[in-house]
Amino acid sequence: MTDTGLLAVLVATAAGALAGGAWAAGRRKAGERQRPAFRSSPHYTEGLHCLATGQLETAIHELGKVLREHEDAVEVQQVLSHLYREVGQVERAIEIHRELLARRDLTRAERAYAQASLGTDYRKAGFLDRAAQAYALALDVDPRNLHALTGQQKLHEEQRQWREAYEIQTRLARMRKSDDGLVLGFLQVEMGREALRSGRKDAAEEAFRTALSLDRRVFPAHLALAGVLLERDPRRAAQVLEDAIAAAPERAYLAFAALQGAYAAMGEPSRFAALCERLVGQDPRDFRARLALARQLREGGRAAEALGLLLRALEANPHILLVHLEVWRTLRALRVLGPDEQRYVATVEESALYVDPHICTVCRYRADDMLWRCPHCHEWNTFVEERVGPAAGTR
Ligand SMILES: [Zn+2]
Repeated sequence: MTDTGLLAVLVATAAGALAGGAWAAGRRKAGERQRPAFRSSPHYTEGLHCLATGQLETAIHELGKVLREHEDAVEVQQVLSHLYREVGQVERAIEIHRELLARRDLTRAERAYAQASLGTDYRKAGFLDRAAQAYALALDVDPRNLHALTGQQKLHEEQRQWREAYEIQTRLARMRKSDDGLVLGFLQVEMGREALRSGRKDAAEEAFRTALSLDRRVFPAHLALAGVLLERDPRRAAQVLEDAIAAAPERAYLAFAALQGAYAAMGEPSRFAALCERLVGQDPRDFRARLALARQLREGGRAAEALGLLLRALEANPHILLVHLEVWRTLRALRVLGPDEQRYVATVEESALYVDPHICTVCRYRADDMLWRCPHCHEWNTFVEERVGPAAGTR
């Protein structure tokens, strides 16, 4: 080894030792701060207890006391601001996050996290531009900050910027090594719908097919693809819808109207009744298929048969308003109702609000229809028929 070579090795070793020493000192400092005095405060313990039992207001109260005693408790500031946001006091959350970010002793991770949290505060408060800015700043500090990336993704979804949302979601899935096919599929459906609206049928069809290749359970992708195919090739449209029912039988009813249309376009309308009968055979508690079949019978002038079917549907599902309504309509078609009864049926038809209740399995938001993205918690594919309960959901 030459002298210069040796010198270089020595310098490198010394530099390494110095760097190692600085790193160890840093660790010691961080260690001291990571086991701080605030943890021994009784208010801290009480605050955690309240948090665990869902008493958020009391948790805020207790943790506020901890912060008054220990102004430098970063973790408590973080948790407290989250709690304020959670109970709807976003302004207070923003205030705490700003105070936090004004500190000079934050680690890189802490700074990125606080910056991303501030972004979420802004997003919840409806300041979308500021939210975008805060997330971008968080990613400047730490380009792999999951909190900021997730926030950015949600921000794009909220602004219906589906392509951008899709790109970030893809990145998130890669970073987390998670299978996000379902969400990615739903985003593709939205991209396809956008393409349809601007008259790009081919692009739309491709997006719907991509959605299905990502996850067969993306039900609206089947529906949308069948919609595109219907005019050109009703037989293939019907095939797509039958595939949808095979992939997610609990969602079959959502394809009924489209399937009826496709069979009619093929000139084989009787296939719909056959399908309903098959579904009833598979699940004796099924009321959707019986209901659809009964409706078809009633419209075809076979109201007496329809009534028999509906009464059997009620045996297993006596609490379902939708079936009762159809019974009334069928009785009306059978001309067994007097004027008063007919007026009563008309009133029920107009005033029944939760005829077909669906509920979000994540946040319990209720709607009188099937929704693919919850308007409250913004999750995808979380709605189920309310009577079924969360067990039949996809999560
Ligand atoms: Zn929800």
